Formats: sequence, structure tokens, C-alpha cells
Amino acid sequence: MATFKCDCGKVLANSICPNDIQLILFTDREWENIREKVSNGFDIYDAEPQYDAWRCTECERIYFFKDNKLVFQYAIEKDYRKS
Ligand SMILES: [Zn+2]
Repeated sequence: MATFKCDCGKVLANSICPNDIQLILFTDREWENIREKVSNGFDIYDAEPQYDAWRCTECERIYFFKDNKLVFQYAIEKDYRKS
């Protein structure tokens, strides 16, 4: 359980489960490895993504954390939904 203040000012929190903040991201290769392990009895909920990814519900910035430290931050450069 944690909180983080986005650059837009919105305070993000993952205290509610499920939430709309955290993204569960795997590469295609990681996902294939997980699927293979699941077919051998591995619990899919034990699969750990490389990064803890959070998306702001206000401005849609995405933050990547590793070991509870912010390592990457992305903001929308272009938004084609409105064109
Ligand atoms: Zn934001």
C-alpha cells in the first residue's frame, strides 16, 4: 500500500484492490514464460512484473518503480483520440 503524487497534482494510491492505478505489465516473452509455468501448476498471481507501473487517472502519465524507487516516467506526447 502506497501513495504517490503525480506531476499534475493528483495523489495516486494503490490501497484499494483492484484499482485503476496499477498496471500489470509483462513483455510478450515474459508472458509466454508465465503461461508455460502456469500450465505446469504455477500460480499466475505469483508472477512478478519487472516494474511496478502506475498510471495517473487524471493526466495518464505512467510511472515505473523498481524496489520502490521511481526509475522511469512517461507523459503523453501526442493524443490522437481527439483528432
Ligand atoms: Zn497526473
